[in-house]
Amino acid sequence: MRPIRRKLQLVFQDPFASLNPRMTVGRIIAAPLIIHEPRMGQAERAERVAEMLQMVGLLPGHAGRFPHEFSGGQRQRIGIARALLLRPDFLVADEPVSALDVSIQAQIVNLLLDLRARFSLAMLFISHDLAVVGHLCDKVAVMYLGRMVESAPTIELFSNPRHPYTEALFSAAPDPDPDARRSRIILSGDIPSPINPPSGCVFRTRCRYALPACAGEIPPLRHVAPDHQSACIRDDLTLQPAM
Ligand code: SF4
Repeated sequence: MRPIRRKLQLVFQDPFASLNPRMTVGRIIAAPLIIHEPRMGQAERAERVAEMLQMVGLLPGHAGRFPHEFSGGQRQRIGIARALLLRPDFLVADEPVSALDVSIQAQIVNLLLDLRARFSLAMLFISHDLAVVGHLCDKVAVMYLGRMVESAPTIELFSNPRHPYTEALFSAAPDPDPDARRSRIILSGDIPSPINPPSGCVFRTRCRYALPACAGEIPPLRHVAPDHQSACIRDDLTLQPAM
């Protein structure tokens, strides 16, 4: 697995817990090189760390500091530097901005966009924030209770949702226009337990369009348009798009 691991890297959700407080930033970022390129000399390693720090908007001199000396946004930059040091092909970004202030979120999202283009990265971006998803992603997969219920290119999904859960997500997203009035879809009830999910469609206990037939088989993901898949048995619905 080792040759494959260097091509797959991860940015963690919590920039505070994902950095070892006892290690300097330089040692944290260099750790993947120590594991995957053990013959590399110390001077070259320090040079690579300094270069990576600059790419994420920090200073080479920051390598000698400890994580507690940085803000949340700076710590997330350190996590991104560590993940990209080996020039991976594929990056999983697991809610990388959810623990940050909104202004800092924008900086990190723009940094990820920039680095994605610079390194030709494929990125799996996991988020609850639809505005960020719409800004960053080419294609979106909507998950509910551990299942993918809809998948489509971003523009297609935002303009033509085909699964009721996607519609409910769009309706719950905050609108930046204070005068905008739109009908909110309030889902009733709690999310069922994933270890004891409802029969048939897992969303049926909260879906306002549910029919008795929804309790039968689990609806498979099927094509409803080119490159657009949905796991809903109802083709007759016209759902509200995102704003
Ligand atoms: S299959 Fe039925 S319950 Fe599930 S999303 Fe479609 S309409 Fe709702």
